[in-house]
Amino acid sequence: MESVKAQSYDVHIDELAQAALNQHIAKNDYSKIFVLVDTNTKKYCLPAFEKKFEESIDSIFEIEPGEENKHIQTCLQVWEQLSNFDGDRKSLLINLGGGVLTDLGGFVASTFKRGIDFINIPTTLLSMVDASIGGKTGVDLGSLKNQIGVINQPQMVLIFPEFLKTLDPRQIKSGYAEMLKHGLIKDREYWDDLRHGNIFEAASSIQKSIAIKNDVVLQDPTEKGLRKILNFGHTLGHAIESYCLENYDKKTLLHGEAIAIGMIMEGFLSHKLTGLSKLCLNEIKETFLQYFEKVDFDDNDMDAILKLLKYDKKNSHGNINFVLLQSIGVAVTDIKVPEDLFVEAFSYYKE
Ligand code: NAD
Ligand code: ZN
Repeated sequence: MESVKAQSYDVHIDELAQAALNQHIAKNDYSKIFVLVDTNTKKYCLPAFEKKFEESIDSIFEIEPGEENKHIQTCLQVWEQLSNFDGDRKSLLINLGGGVLTDLGGFVASTFKRGIDFINIPTTLLSMVDASIGGKTGVDLGSLKNQIGVINQPQMVLIFPEFLKTLDPRQIKSGYAEMLKHGLIKDREYWDDLRHGNIFEAASSIQKSIAIKNDVVLQDPTEKGLRKILNFGHTLGHAIESYCLENYDKKTLLHGEAIAIGMIMEGFLSHKLTGLSKLCLNEIKETFLQYFEKVDFDDNDMDAILKLLKYDKKNSHGNINFVLLQSIGVAVTDIKVPEDLFVEAFSYYKE
């Protein structure tokens, strides 16, 4: 596979990744090399990583896995470890893990001593095709997602598809939702390929998804315009994800599972407001329901989710701007949605 040229860094896949990593380390005179893992990536990914890596690692920092640990207390723990192990401005942090770990590790590296180099080695499908690309780093504030963070690019992103072998199928599906999103917002043909493809062969499409995301990010690194299209499904999806995280009696949803619901509902809004055909809308709903079991939201859940949406609204001067679809493969940004349509969108999802 070829490498993908990103903003100021490259994304390398497989054998090329291993070579690029070792060349980068040989070229840069790092004072210390630290690796950040979580309990799972320590067990499943670190041994294989150590075999690929020719240098010695100065220290391995381990954090607890899961979105509930993507907060500032965990950063504090890693900042303290960096400091205790004599990290300085010439240190390197290698983030070996899923999106929680690469988001958090990227933020920790970007802020420690006003910023040290970091490399992302994503180990989940979602982080390979999405979270580790594009330079968004950060943590949650309470149950509100990604409230604290910075945009800062890694030195490089290295993709080793072999890591997917130990990943739970539910996590594979979660990443697949983001890949389907790439098709929906940018590439009808890719959408069709994925929709008819085998999810367990997703690894063969990683490069295509990275290329789509990267192309968008390169044109608009700071999300002033085009980059917003990557948020399709995420406005409602994030509210749903936050709600389910807060209410432990409800099913906890993975990121991809929440945005899959968001994409069905925002597909409905697209049908109402931006010309997406009924046929395409139904195709979107059928596709996602084929992978993701329907969640049985009741009226109370819906009210609470809409409240969370309005909290966002308050923060953006009274408007919630949506990314919607004109057709499959063509997205439009900054669409204002009348409130009563949200209730209809929920009904459409439930029917
Ligand atoms: P995750 O990082 O929580 O990983 C999922 C689980 O899989 C964890 O328990 C992890 O320990 C385990 N795991 C990781 N790699 C494994 C492997 N190879 N084998 C076995 N287990 C493994 O979840 P995720 O889906 O990768 O990431 C979700 C996060 O990504 C969310 O916080 C989301 O906000 C963020 N995200 C960020 C961006 C961005 O642009 N920065 C984009 C999309 C999502
Ligand atoms: Zn996402």
